[in-house]
Amino acid sequence: MQPIHDATLPAAPALNPTQRICLRDLLDEQWRAQVRQLTGLATAYHSAESFGDEHSAAELSAALAVVRRRLIDVEAALARLDSRTYGRCDGCDRRLPFEQLEMNPLARNCTRCQPLA
Ligand SMILES: [Zn+2]
Repeated sequence: MQPIHDATLPAAPALNPTQRICLRDLLDEQWRAQVRQLTGLATAYHSAESFGDEHSAAELSAALAVVRRRLIDVEAALARLDSRTYGRCDGCDRRLPFEQLEMNPLARNCTRCQPLA
């Protein structure tokens, strides 16, 4: 895909060190939250399984998959932060504004390239 360069839209400035630290903290916090959730779900899953509650086990297994997926996303964002590729739009390679990343540190698209939900 050809990157779109729209001169009418000012590019966001590069993240400064303070902003990077702030985003890392947010991502670390999300990482810990996901791990906590994963641990809780895994415990519930194993007890549902040992009680032979197949319905709950299936639901918990689906929830586990969602949290696991989110954990992978958080880890990928942390890796991008380390490799300095963090904070660029996947669609047009524009820098994402800090305000957007602060609201959603996992954002991978600018507001223009946002995939339709
Ligand atoms: Zn974009």
